[in-house]
Amino acid sequence: MRFQKVMKFGGGCLRDADGFKRAAEIIRKEPIPPVVVVSAVSGVTDALESGLTRAVKNEAGITRTIRALRMQHENLAVHLLPSREIRTHVLEQIDLRLNRLERLLQGAALTGEASPFTRAHVLSYGERWAAVLLAGLLKEKGADARALESEHIGLAADDSPDAATADIPAFRRAVKKNALGLESGRFIPVITGFYGVASKRRIASFGRNGSDYSAAVIAVALHVPLLEIWKDVDGFMTADPKRVPGAKPIARLSFSEAAELSYFGAKVLHPRTLEPVARQNGTIQIRHLFRPDRPGTEISAKGGTTETVLKSVTHNNRIAVLRVCGAGVGCKPGIIGIIGRSLADRGVNIISVITAQTMINVLVAETDARLALKTLRAVRGGVITRVESETGLSLVAAVGEGLSSRKGLAARVFTAVAEGGVNVEMISSGASGVATYFLVRKEDALPAVRALHAEFFERAAK
Ligand code: ASP
Ligand code: MG
Repeated sequence: MRFQKVMKFGGGCLRDADGFKRAAEIIRKEPIPPVVVVSAVSGVTDALESGLTRAVKNEAGITRTIRALRMQHENLAVHLLPSREIRTHVLEQIDLRLNRLERLLQGAALTGEASPFTRAHVLSYGERWAAVLLAGLLKEKGADARALESEHIGLAADDSPDAATADIPAFRRAVKKNALGLESGRFIPVITGFYGVASKRRIASFGRNGSDYSAAVIAVALHVPLLEIWKDVDGFMTADPKRVPGAKPIARLSFSEAAELSYFGAKVLHPRTLEPVARQNGTIQIRHLFRPDRPGTEISAKGGTTETVLKSVTHNNRIAVLRVCGAGVGCKPGIIGIIGRSLADRGVNIISVITAQTMINVLVAETDARLALKTLRAVRGGVITRVESETGLSLVAAVGEGLSSRKGLAARVFTAVAEGGVNVEMISSGASGVATYFLVRKEDALPAVRALHAEFFERAAK
């Protein structure tokens, strides 16, 4: 039998005994055993991170770190697992991992340092406990479930300790080779998200919130067509509901639309989740654990066209614009290359570039603005005469497949913004065909977003 579905449960779902119970109920309703992927219990990865930072400085805090993590997970086991046998086994498994973690922390305290691989290893414990607990609970409910760690299944990663990429072909070979019967579909594997195994058996993490990506990799490696991401939100929304009261859930998105929104900062889905699933033409569904009757958001190659074309409007306040000025910057070969390379050398990420003949505008995160300015001022000379940094701006994004090809749509976007009393400082449109980005003064961002939302999503409803 083949798996039909990977179900991933985030930390926001697994925040307490009730969350675990709901997750188990949803899994038990599946007619065909699914593959389950978990993140750490809410807050645990942060606790591991600060526990390690403290341990590097001083051995004294280790006992406290371990005690708190023990309490949290043992409490869950006691609440969730009434049968003696299962509970004893789960408590043993938790304890085993606490002991290993303690040794790692002591090593860090002894040497006064922690390599990035050690850090990734320490941070991976949250997922290990969560997998053991959820598998235990599923057994309690009569299912044949097994907790599996990334090491067991051979989930291979490259050698970037805190932003690794999975090696799917190597992972597939490992699944074939190890005799776990993972592909048999006869039991429910409950797999740790968030990390894989790099060379020399070192642990590499896929980055914070990387369990979504783990789940995608597992779905693709096992040829499972559907990935369900269970969260404590409805899915993608037409706008941030905290700021735009009329915001509604989005039923369907294409991969490109979801990518624009995720990379732009929507916290719904880790942006790297999309690429592997898109490549195998799979489907992702975002579902609300505490409102399972709602449809959530479906992401697939076919997406979903709506009459308005626009799917979502959002903004980012934490950006700065570096204006690189000079009479011929638009015609001198290599300028963008020089800008890009010098910023990359200092670890500054470029969010976007908007150019004219006399000016190149480089958008970076506000936190990078000073370093970027210093760096670019140092490369001044040649045709670059001046570099300035401008803060106090906000980048607004309007996302929807067909935005740049549908006649009259850009006009409608900017008319709505103008009628909202907002001046647009700079526009980047059509770069991907899926999104229009524009800059406004920070104080104008929300009025612009609200004006757009009203025009495209609230007019018909009124
Ligand atoms: N537990 C990890 C984190 O908090 C991974 C995840 O939640 O996806 O970053
Ligand atoms: Mg998390």
